[in-house]
Amino acid sequence: MKISRDIYLIGSGQLGFDWTHPADCNVYAVNTGEGVALIDSGTGLSVDQLADNLEEHQFNMADVTHILLTHLHADHSGGAAEIARRTGAQVVLLDEAASVLEAGDEQAIDLPQARMAGFYPADYRWTPCKADIRLQDGEQLTIGRYSFTAMHTPGHSRYDTCYVMEAERGPLVLISGDTIMYGGKISMLSTHDFSVSALASSIERLTAMEPEMLLPGHGQPALSRAAEHIRTASRIFGTLGIPPTIG
Ligand SMILES: [Zn+2]
Repeated sequence: MKISRDIYLIGSGQLGFDWTHPADCNVYAVNTGEGVALIDSGTGLSVDQLADNLEEHQFNMADVTHILLTHLHADHSGGAAEIARRTGAQVVLLDEAASVLEAGDEQAIDLPQARMAGFYPADYRWTPCKADIRLQDGEQLTIGRYSFTAMHTPGHSRYDTCYVMEAERGPLVLISGDTIMYGGKISMLSTHDFSVSALASSIERLTAMEPEMLLPGHGQPALSRAAEHIRTASRIFGTLGIPPTIG
C-alpha cells in the first residue's frame, strides 16, 4: 500500500496490518528513482507475497537494489538472504552487526528463545547473509534521489540502527526500526541485549532531530509531526518511567 510519495508498505505482520507472515515486521519499499530500496526484509517466510505486493505498485523484485536492515532480529533480517539471492540487491547495515549476519549466529539474536516462544516455526532457520555495505554511525549512503544516514541506536537490541532519510524535495523521514513506534511506544524484550538505559539514551539522541515522518518497524507510521512521538517517549524516560511496549 502507498504510504506517501515514493514510499510503500509491502509487508506487515500481526503487530501491524496482519498482512504477510504474522511475525513479519513492516517492510517498506522506497522508489529512489534509481531502483527500489527495501527497509527491512521480514522473516523470509513471505518473500513471494512481498514480491506480489511490490508488483501492485508497478515495481518488481528485479528493481530492488538495496535492503537496509534496522537490526538483526529475524522478523526484520530473516528475508535478506533470499531477497538478495533473487534480486542481487546489496544488503546494508551497521558495520558492527555485519559479522553476526554473515555468521548467521542465531544465539546472538535470541532466535532459539523466539522459536521456542512460538514466534517462528520449529524448523525456521536464520540464513547467513553477506553484508555488502557496512555503515558507521553517522555515515550517509545515497541511493538515487534519497540519502540515508545511519544512527546507531542501541537499546531494543545491541545493533539497532535508525536511518534518517532525506531528499531535496520531501519530508525528513525517520526510519526507526524497533527503537520507537507510533505514540512513543517502545518494544521491550526479555532478551540478553535489551537495555532500558541504552534505549533511553538512544531516544534522547533522536530528540535532537525534527523528523516529519516516522516509519517504524511495527504498527502504524506517522505521516506528519513524527517528532511528537519521540518527545512522548522522552518525557516518560525523563520522569524515570518506561514508555508502554508494543505486543
Ligand atoms: Zn526487534
